[in-house]
Amino acid sequence: MTKYQLLGGILGLCTGDALGVPVEFRSRAELRLDPVTDMIGQGVHKQPPGTWSDDSALALCLAESLCSGYNLADLSERFVRALYEGYWTPWGKMFDIGGTTKEAIHRLRKKPADPTTAGGRDEHSNGNGSLSRILPLAFTLDSLDPGERWLRVSQVSSLTHAHPRSILACALYTEVALRLLAKPELQGAYLGTCAHARKSFAENPELHHYRRIISGELASAPESTIKSTGYVVDTLEAALWCLLTETSYEGTVLKAVNLGDDSDTIAAIAGGLAGILHGYAAIPTRWLDRLARRAEIEELGTRLFRSLGGKTKG
Ligand SMILES: [Mg+2]
Repeated sequence: MTKYQLLGGILGLCTGDALGVPVEFRSRAELRLDPVTDMIGQGVHKQPPGTWSDDSALALCLAESLCSGYNLADLSERFVRALYEGYWTPWGKMFDIGGTTKEAIHRLRKKPADPTTAGGRDEHSNGNGSLSRILPLAFTLDSLDPGERWLRVSQVSSLTHAHPRSILACALYTEVALRLLAKPELQGAYLGTCAHARKSFAENPELHHYRRIISGELASAPESTIKSTGYVVDTLEAALWCLLTETSYEGTVLKAVNLGDDSDTIAAIAGGLAGILHGYAAIPTRWLDRLARRAEIEELGTRLFRSLGGKTKG
């Protein structure tokens, strides 16, 4: 992993989120007539251009926490501060946070002995709220064996989303990220993840929900069959489909945004992987220049890279 892959991942996630925020909830049909082509402001949340949402805020909390090692109590505390004090939010106030995440953070505020008990466990608690903040964990997983990787992904997801379907989405996503960090070659990373899933997750009763992803043929799915809802299975499919059917960072995130509905979250999830794959330099400067707290996010990424033993160069 290079520093520019890590920065590409984090900044790629926040930039995708910020591109999608103004048009969240707009339909695909509407966006087809008036597509997003640049970083705009206002829209549904009435925010200035470059404003990222809850998805990036909680991902940045995770990145910040990981700078001092893996510690679920520390991470939980940062989530609580994000919701109640606006910590790691663009302008001091969290917005757009989903119900499952909010309720779980309410529970984390009471400091349960085991913070992984805070997350929603029923089948209706399978929104994309843990998937959209899991990316920074992938930067820390390369020295762990598959069982240890699964455990960490499961614990971090469970702070807000403890249903096995949400955990499996996070596992598939971080496995793709891990492979891209080792070698930025998309087909290899995607097919390697599919093979890993069929072998390591064969007994997981939730795996069939992801059959279209692990078939290795997601790229050939027609757009009309790609749903851009906030359901974790739809979101992971949509984000990976955008990544697999585009050849640039810019193309990937704009495609994700213009799918409509949960546009900010899908573009954040797709943008994180696209940033790792295509690199920090592939994120258009005109977008980075408008991104809220850009310098602080870059500084955080650099700190995380150093804390993981990375050299400051490259
Ligand atoms: Mg959001």
